Order: sequence, then C-alpha cells, then structure tokens
Amino acid sequence: MKEINYRKCIACGKIKNKIELVKITCEYRTKDIMIQPDNKTFGRSCYICKDELCINKALKRGKIFKILRVKSIENFDKKIKAVLN
Ligand SMILES: [Zn+2]
Repeated sequence: MKEINYRKCIACGKIKNKIELVKITCEYRTKDIMIQPDNKTFGRSCYICKDELCINKALKRGKIFKILRVKSIENFDKKIKAVLN
C-alpha cells in the first residue's frame, strides 16, 4: 500500500496530500532553491499548493525566502509558476 504523506501549505495553512503541493527545498550545501526536487535533495523545505493564489501569497513580501532562510532569487516567481502549467 502506498503511504500518503500530508504536508501543510505555507500560504493558506491547509494540510494536503503531498502530491497536491509543490515542494521547495533549499539545498543545505549549495543553498540552491530547488522546485520539486528529487528524494536525494536535502535541505530546508516547504510546501505550497499547486495554486496560483497560494504561490502569490507565498511570494508576497518574500515570505517563502524567509521560511527557507535564503535571499530572494530573481525570476523565482516565473520558475515556480511554470509548475502550474
Ligand atoms: Zn495553499
């Protein structure tokens, strides 16, 4: 049986099945921000709904970067919104 993992969206606070969320990880060595990283990527992570409203909320005032404790990244909004398409 497949295990269901639940995670909380940092924008709306709802708890959802991991597959309904976008995972963002700040790789612990390189500090690269990875969108939907593979299982071999370790670092500080957060989850956001695959929803433009939640993504916009997470990007507002750099909330997501504060959570990941990194500096803001140029064009990150475009990169993360590409996941929605
Ligand atoms: Zn959400």
